[in-house]
Amino acid sequence: ANPRPPNIVIRGYGQYYDVRTPEGIVRCTVRGVLKRARRKTDPVAVGDRVEITLTGPGEGVIEAVAPRLRTLSRRARGTEDVEQVILANPDQLVAVFAVAEPEPHPRMLDRFLIIAEARGLAAAVCVNKIDLDPSGELRRIFDPYRAAGYPVIETSATTGVGIDELRAILHGKVSALSGPSGVGKSSLINALHPELDLRVGEISAVTGKGRHTTTATTLILLDDETYIADTPGIRQLGFWGIDFERLDHYFPEFRPYLDQCYYADCTHLTEPGCAVLAAVEAGAIDYDRYESYRALRAGTDDR
Ligand code: GDP
Ligand code: ZN
Repeated sequence: ANPRPPNIVIRGYGQYYDVRTPEGIVRCTVRGVLKRARRKTDPVAVGDRVEITLTGPGEGVIEAVAPRLRTLSRRARGTEDVEQVILANPDQLVAVFAVAEPEPHPRMLDRFLIIAEARGLAAAVCVNKIDLDPSGELRRIFDPYRAAGYPVIETSATTGVGIDELRAILHGKVSALSGPSGVGKSSLINALHPELDLRVGEISAVTGKGRHTTTATTLILLDDETYIADTPGIRQLGFWGIDFERLDHYFPEFRPYLDQCYYADCTHLTEPGCAVLAAVEAGAIDYDRYESYRALRAGTDDR
């Protein structure tokens, strides 16, 4: 027999969590022992796979949480080392930017990609509002990301261009959709939705217009195996727990050069015999991408 599809936490409301089960959505509390056992992280977070017992129609208790494979998290406010999980078990991060209105912000895109790399998530770039770029010139700012190996999907939530391609890259995964406000994340989520039904409530929850929602993250079901979450911007995601000694590994286009530097512990900032600097010089690594690396590695940009 097929194993039961796992129950997944799709939304939190203070002490309650909505859990999607094969039988429908169950509103759950959390068994006290779970809270006591996990002091360094949220006992339950959106995206967690959980075991529940039913206590009434549509009501239950979360009894156990499966170990998290990956997390998007930040430091809980006012604490040194307590993790606040924004999304548990994401498979990929899709960074959404617009070709214009608002103007793309490559440094911010680099930060999203670093977070994805450091957390072990696949990453893709969605370039929206392609309808505002009839000449094709504006989108060229995203060329270095294709060269670095990231899928770059061009979309227009307005005309529908690229929506099927975006749907294909999301299929079967739990994806975090990140990007500055105004780039069209909500519009894309609406365009991706195959039909208008009960899920409309989930969209409005994401866009902040839903009733009763108190937590930032909601998982939206696109099809049986596909979820998307509108995750907050870079400030909220943050670099907490990211090892800047390994920053060079988080730029995939640097990786082929890393073991060719003269010094094994090369920072690629000023060292002679640096293969990364040579590749930048030769145009094999994009200059702006390198500048992004340099500013973060040297600590001249906010971490
Ligand atoms: P969000 O803040 O990222 O969720 O962005 P919204 O989905 O709220 O969109 C912000 C604005 O951009 C709205 O006025 C949308 O109508 C507009 N918009 C969204 N997608 C597109 C697009 O593909 N092309 C154009 N021209 N405008 C878009
Ligand atoms: Zn080097």
